[in-house]
Amino acid sequence: MSNRPITVTQPFLPPLEEFTPYLQEIWQTHRLTNAGPFHRRLEIVLAEYLGVEHIALLANGTLALMTALKALGLSGEIITTPFSFVATTHALWWSGITPVFADIDPNSFNLDPKAVEAAITSRTTAILPVHIYGRPCDVGAIQRIADTHGLKVIYDAAHAFAVRDSGGSITRHGDLSVLSFHATKVFTTFEGGAIVCPDARTKQHVDLLKNFGVADEVTVLATGINGKMNELQAAFGLLQLQHVDAAIRRRQEIDTFYRRALENVPGIDCPPLPPDIVWNHAYFPILIQPDYPLSRDGVYHRLQELGVHARRYFYPLISEFPMYQDLSSAAPANLPIAHDVAKRVLCLPIYPTLELEDIVEIVDVIAEIG
Ligand SMILES: *Cc1c(COP(=O)(O)O)cnc(C)c1O
Repeated sequence: MSNRPITVTQPFLPPLEEFTPYLQEIWQTHRLTNAGPFHRRLEIVLAEYLGVEHIALLANGTLALMTALKALGLSGEIITTPFSFVATTHALWWSGITPVFADIDPNSFNLDPKAVEAAITSRTTAILPVHIYGRPCDVGAIQRIADTHGLKVIYDAAHAFAVRDSGGSITRHGDLSVLSFHATKVFTTFEGGAIVCPDARTKQHVDLLKNFGVADEVTVLATGINGKMNELQAAFGLLQLQHVDAAIRRRQEIDTFYRRALENVPGIDCPPLPPDIVWNHAYFPILIQPDYPLSRDGVYHRLQELGVHARRYFYPLISEFPMYQDLSSAAPANLPIAHDVAKRVLCLPIYPTLELEDIVEIVDVIAEIG
């Protein structure tokens, strides 16, 4: 095996010399941030790439979530999933909003619309679903619930870069969608994020909020924040975008390899890809079933001994962390499916530079135990 330790994901870094011209331009123009030329260019090419009209770039996905909540003026309670990265709920808490956890669907691992509807109270203002692992939520059912009850919908689309359903990018759904370009994501700007907006007016509002609410030298229109993506991040994004399709193709090959190698291993379940979806292969989750000889943690530790750091995404559930566990919606009895999945799931390494011999060894270890 090579390059140990192997992690669950690694950023794709283009050859360094490809980045040099961008750095030279920054050094020549002295434009480091504040809606500079790279920032504006990346907004245009990303919108084109995703097939959406309006996108605002932010410094990271968490600030993008908080800015999205602010842009829609949300307060009270927001219904969300416990099966996600903790930033989803932290963005609510940090904004003075009470998270209300609803259970997930056992096949998509996304919010179960029936559980969402059951969690609505007079204080509910919105739904914050996550397209977990890039798997699209039941956007139709969620929109119907939102329309019936007069709620907003913000999608945490941090995992869903380049994921498309039959109508286009899944980030076009809901009132706003939030992307993350963190180093661990399929498309990265080191740290970064974006808000996909339905119209120019909303984007303008988001742009105001991410720049302290400053409209011009003497005018401050809102209590905004410093959420701007800087020029270094945006320049890297422009370069990364030229390589992202090749990176996704390589991820797809690894996904296919894993699936073929593991499909006949008793007790290992590779959740099928949803049909009619253009996929980004951001993650490769497997579910360890009760008839497999080792527990999920057993497999996790066995791989760890080989220098392979698989990840138990998403365990523990967000609802189990100390700041949330006393909420009534965080009770395990309210979230049986999320608890069951969190106990059995393991995400295997998947990234463009992962080597074949390593993939073979990972599947051999899992198959030999089984
Ligand atoms: C990565 C991630 C975030 C946070 O994004 P950052 O850019 O790291 O702030 C939010 N939600 C989910 C589901 C994520 O995976």
